Amino acid sequence: MICNTCNEDKPDSKFYARAKRCTECRAIQLREKKSEMGEFYISYAMLGKALSRCKLESDSKSTLLKHLMDLGGVPKRCPVLGLLISYDSGGNSPSLDRIDSSLGYIVGNVEIISYRANVLKNSSTQEERELLASYYRK
Ligand SMILES: [Zn+2]
Repeated sequence: MICNTCNEDKPDSKFYARAKRCTECRAIQLREKKSEMGEFYISYAMLGKALSRCKLESDSKSTLLKHLMDLGGVPKRCPVLGLLISYDSGGNSPSLDRIDSSLGYIVGNVEIISYRANVLKNSSTQEERELLASYYRK
């Protein structure tokens, strides 16, 4: 497979799934990105990870990544639950949410919320969430 960055023909084992550039070029680009982005890099890297779990084409992935960075990257707190977002795995880790889950991961329909909020949301309907809220408000 030919790397689209160094143009060298390398074995497939030198490429991550669906990647068009080799792992060496990727490492170099990540290092450059890191020094260029400074404190925003963690946010950027986490978004990249969250996006890679959504099985997107690499073009739509970079469009979304840019869109989310324009929105400010990973928020300090989960907009739903208010908990502090952390980068350890677990409920506080950032995850990509489709605002309207009948639509895809597209610009305008994605935001970063905590993994916990995402699970709660996706395991319930709007009606169930309202019933829960009103029951426990009593
Ligand atoms: Zn390369």
